[in-house]
Amino acid sequence: MTRTVYVNGHYLPEHEATVSIFDRGFLMADGVYEVTSVLDGKLIDFDGHIKRLHRSLGELDMAAPCSDEDLITMHRELVALNNIDQGMIYLQVTRGNPGDRSFVFPPADLPPTIVAFTQDIPNLADAPAAKTGFKVISIPDLRWDRRDIKTVQLLYPSMGKMMAKKAGVDDSWFVEDGAVTEGTSNNAYIVKGNRIITRQLSTDILHGITRVAVLRFAAEAQFEVEERPFTIEEAQGADEAFSTAASIFVMPVVEIDGKPVGTGKPGPVATRLRELYLDEMRKAAV
Ligand code: PLP
Repeated sequence: MTRTVYVNGHYLPEHEATVSIFDRGFLMADGVYEVTSVLDGKLIDFDGHIKRLHRSLGELDMAAPCSDEDLITMHRELVALNNIDQGMIYLQVTRGNPGDRSFVFPPADLPPTIVAFTQDIPNLADAPAAKTGFKVISIPDLRWDRRDIKTVQLLYPSMGKMMAKKAGVDDSWFVEDGAVTEGTSNNAYIVKGNRIITRQLSTDILHGITRVAVLRFAAEAQFEVEERPFTIEEAQGADEAFSTAASIFVMPVVEIDGKPVGTGKPGPVATRLRELYLDEMRKAAV
């Protein structure tokens, strides 16, 4: 089946969808994005993703591309047109096409470019990787200093993923000033006894939508939550570690820089949080 994608108000077969070479997203990485997971044909935590989209746009002085109602309608339409039961919807909004290349922002009334597409992942909830866990390496965090804005400038995270691949592992955790910031495309956590430790929100990390929900479920399940930086050494000596993102939910991390974390297998806390997250978010899906 040919995928149907969305470009500026039109639903098109993917091979007919085009964006100008002058688009600010293409030339300047001047755009933001969101990735919403789909389970049972429904959107997971869409409200959270829309709120963060508005925040990212606001931080870059970009206007909302359309109403929230239009966005949810478009997401649901893409799910239906592509018959998605489990998978993801990628949404990107750029500053648009000024018709030439310039470092100066175009006038604020230039229409943004909006594109969206589905990714069909039939075993998203039941991902085999969740049973074995991720192995990660640590690498220096060489990204810009506004990681709280979800921009499309993903070259360094992509390089980080390739460094992991070359090292024969699943992901990289970024380290800055001796402490872990986050994963290439996920937030990072460690578990010590009944305590879940993750870096506090700031411009150093993306404010994960999955993070908000997981910390809420953790607190409700009587875990202590401590928001502070931690080092790779502390993580290697922790009982468990895990990462969260809309694409992986809660993913156990079983090895860091070649050293096993805890038993070297997915631990009970990460496993429980993953179950809790999936159960609760499925109930609340729209
Ligand atoms: N941190 C980074 C750098 C990310 O790219 C992502 C997701 O893409 C996350 C954290 C997790 O965010 P979310 O839970 O909203 O998917």
